[in-house]
Amino acid sequence: VNNYNSKQSVKEVAAGYLKEIRELAAVPYTVMEVCGTHTVAIAKNALRDLLPAQIRLVSGPGCPVCVTDSSDIDQFLYLAAQPHVITATFGDMIRVPGSQKSLQMLRGEGADIRIVYSTLDALDLARKNPGKEVVFLGVGFETTVPTVCVSIEQAQKEDIRNYSILSMHKLVPPVLRALAEDPETEVDGFLDPGHACAIIGSEALAFMAEDYGMPGVVTGFEALDILEGLVMLLRQRDQGRAEIEIQYDKIVKPEGNRVAQALIHKIFEPVDAAFRGLGIIPLGGLGLRKEYADWDAAKKFALPEFETVEIPGCRCGNVLKGQITPPECPLFARKCTPLSPVGPCMVSSEGSCAAYYRYAQRS
Ligand code: SF4
Repeated sequence: VNNYNSKQSVKEVAAGYLKEIRELAAVPYTVMEVCGTHTVAIAKNALRDLLPAQIRLVSGPGCPVCVTDSSDIDQFLYLAAQPHVITATFGDMIRVPGSQKSLQMLRGEGADIRIVYSTLDALDLARKNPGKEVVFLGVGFETTVPTVCVSIEQAQKEDIRNYSILSMHKLVPPVLRALAEDPETEVDGFLDPGHACAIIGSEALAFMAEDYGMPGVVTGFEALDILEGLVMLLRQRDQGRAEIEIQYDKIVKPEGNRVAQALIHKIFEPVDAAFRGLGIIPLGGLGLRKEYADWDAAKKFALPEFETVEIPGCRCGNVLKGQITPPECPLFARKCTPLSPVGPCMVSSEGSCAAYYRYAQRS
């Protein structure tokens, strides 16, 4: 589907896409970029400022740190406070507030919380600390789950019993279905997440077009990819179509990555999951199958359940549903900044509020 012509410069290709977008944008059109990486790319390349006013880009629920509910963070905190536990997590998660504090604050109080760059680093921590329990905080969409699976398989192979996962993994199709069924969602088309769809395939999102008449284009992460994705969406409207197309065809296939899907299915099963701002989404997350209970921190530690607690004044939930843009939150750039974040959308490097703040864009 790609329209790039290798003889044209990037500037010429971009100018061509922008011209077509202007021609096709006679009436207002709201596009949700589902993925946090899209949000950052759009902000960094100032694409909002280049688009005609009729095209409104809103962020979606694809930033995994942002959608992690306060109740899940409270479970992380409960676990991390245990004296014999080393908690391993990716970096952004450490600063996100739960109901009382963040992992960073708990670390300041003496908890052993380590930032890792891969699940295999976390597994290595378990190897090197046989007298401790190492728990990896599983936060992310389908994109990152295969690497978690690999670490569990390796732990099983080496019979490493002091390693486990606290799975708060989320799934893209159920959260998009929840958005499609929400009467307050005012989105005409979706830039669908290229990374997650590399695993699940565009066919996994076909229901959005078939059941709800909502078109989507699975899009890559360069500025030209995003502009081309927008052109493809607007062409669908112009031609009266609603389909799930692939712009990012270098990476994404309609059927996805069957090997990765089989690995995920072998170790995980869909479970209900709490999304910040969206509530409980049926079968919206992944839990470990009972065959892997030895590596399931939720079973190993009999964790208590926590209530969801809203952060006073934070409109992250509305941002994640595309209902407002970050500058419409009264705390944006006043009480809430990247140095002093109030909500997760300002903490995460892929958060919409952080992207708006860093690259100062139009609403
Ligand atoms: Fe929440 Fe801060 Fe974003 Fe407002 S600006 S929605 S307080 S993260």
